[in-house]
Amino acid sequence: MQVLLGATLIDGTGASPVPDAAVLIDGERIVAAGPRPAISWRPDASLIDLSGFTLMPGLIDTHDHLASHGYALTKRWGLDEPASTTHLRTARVLEQTLAMGYTTVRDAGGLDAGFRLAIEEGMIAGPRLSLSLKIISPTGGIGDSVSASGHSCWIPADPNLPDSVANGAHEVRIVVRTMVRAGADAIKCATTGGASSRPGHGPTDAAFTREEMRVLVDEAHALGRKVMCHALGGPGLRLAVEAGVDSIEHGCYLADEPDLIAMMAERGIVLTPTLLVYVYHRESRAPHVRERARALYARHLETVQTALAAGVKVVAGTDAGGHDHPANARELECLVDAGMTPLQAIRAGTGLAAECLGWETTVGTVQADRLADLVAVQGDPLRDIRLLQQMNRIKVVWKGGRICVDRRAAVATADDRTARLET
Ligand SMILES: [Zn+2]
Repeated sequence: MQVLLGATLIDGTGASPVPDAAVLIDGERIVAAGPRPAISWRPDASLIDLSGFTLMPGLIDTHDHLASHGYALTKRWGLDEPASTTHLRTARVLEQTLAMGYTTVRDAGGLDAGFRLAIEEGMIAGPRLSLSLKIISPTGGIGDSVSASGHSCWIPADPNLPDSVANGAHEVRIVVRTMVRAGADAIKCATTGGASSRPGHGPTDAAFTREEMRVLVDEAHALGRKVMCHALGGPGLRLAVEAGVDSIEHGCYLADEPDLIAMMAERGIVLTPTLLVYVYHRESRAPHVRERARALYARHLETVQTALAAGVKVVAGTDAGGHDHPANARELECLVDAGMTPLQAIRAGTGLAAECLGWETTVGTVQADRLADLVAVQGDPLRDIRLLQQMNRIKVVWKGGRICVDRRAAVATADDRTARLET
C-alpha cells in the first residue's frame, strides 16, 4: 500500500484543488483520496512525500495518431522506410507520451492492436490505448487513400488495419464489424473533408448518406463501441450530430449551427476541437491546407466558446501524428487560449476525456476504485498550464499503481522539453 502525501490534489472532476492531500493506493487502484486528516492508512504503508507537487490524474488525449509520422504521401503510405523502423518509431512515441504524464490515449486511426498487446505484455512502455484502427468513409472521403495523381494506394491492406471505404448501408455494417474483429475499441468515421484532405473535399464537403450513418451508429452501438466522427462543417456535420455519434472531432464550424450545439448539449455528444492541429495547418506549405485552416480559425474559437457556454462537454485531443508528436499538453494551452480556465482545461484532459472514451469508471479522476494512473507535477499548472509541456516538471507518473517515470532527482530548468528520457 502506498500513501502519496502533501501534494496539492487536482482530482479531475472539476472540483477545487485540495492542499496537503493524501491519496491511498492499494495494488493498481486508488482506495481513498482527500485532505490528509480525512484519510487513514495502515502503519506498514509506504509513504511518498509529494510536498511542493501538484498531483493529478494521468492525462488523456482523446484524439491522437500515434503511428503517424508526417502528412507527406510517402509517410502516409509507408513508402519512405521499412515497416520495422516505422513500428520502432511508433514505439518510441508511445514511450515518450507516457513519460509526459499521458497514461491513456485514444488513437483516431493508424495504430493497430499489436501495440496495445505489446504494452499489455510489458514489451514496450506506453499509455492505455483505445483504438479505432482506421477512418471509415465512402469513396472520395478521407478514409479513401488517393494520391494527387488520382491513383489509389496499391499496397495490400494490412488485416490489422482493414480497408475502411464503405458505400451503402450493407458495406458500412460489414466494415464496422470488421474493425471490431480487428480489435477496435471505438469506431472512427468521417462525414466531411478536412483542412488537410485532398483538394475538392474540404471542411464543408459532405460524405455519407443519412442511411449509411444511421447504420454505422446503430452497428457500432450494438457492438458496444462509441462513434467518434470527424466533421468540420456544412451538411456532413449536421448529418453526424443528427445520426447520434458520440463525439464530434474538430467541429470547427459548429458556431454556424446553434441548433446542433444545443442538440449536442442535450444528448451528451462530446466535442473534441483538436485546436493544436490547426495551429500547424495555418502555416502549412500546401496552399489549399493553409487557406482552409486560416478561414476556419475565428469560427473554431467561437465554436469552443459557444459550446462551453451551452454546456457541451469539450475535451482535449491533439490530432498529433501528421504534425509530428509535440507535447500533448500543448492542447491544454490551446484550450486556455480559447477561453477555458486552467482547471477546466485539466478536466478536459482527464475526467471529461475519460467520459468521452466511456472509461470514466476506470480512469480520469482521483477517486476511490479508479485505477491509480497519476502524475505529480512540480509547480502549479493552474497558474501556468504550460508547465505540463515541460518534461522535467513531470516528476512522477504512476500507471495502475506502478511508478513508471521518476524524475524527482532531476533539477527542473525553465525549458527542458528536449531533456533525455530517463524511463
Ligand atoms: Zn485525426
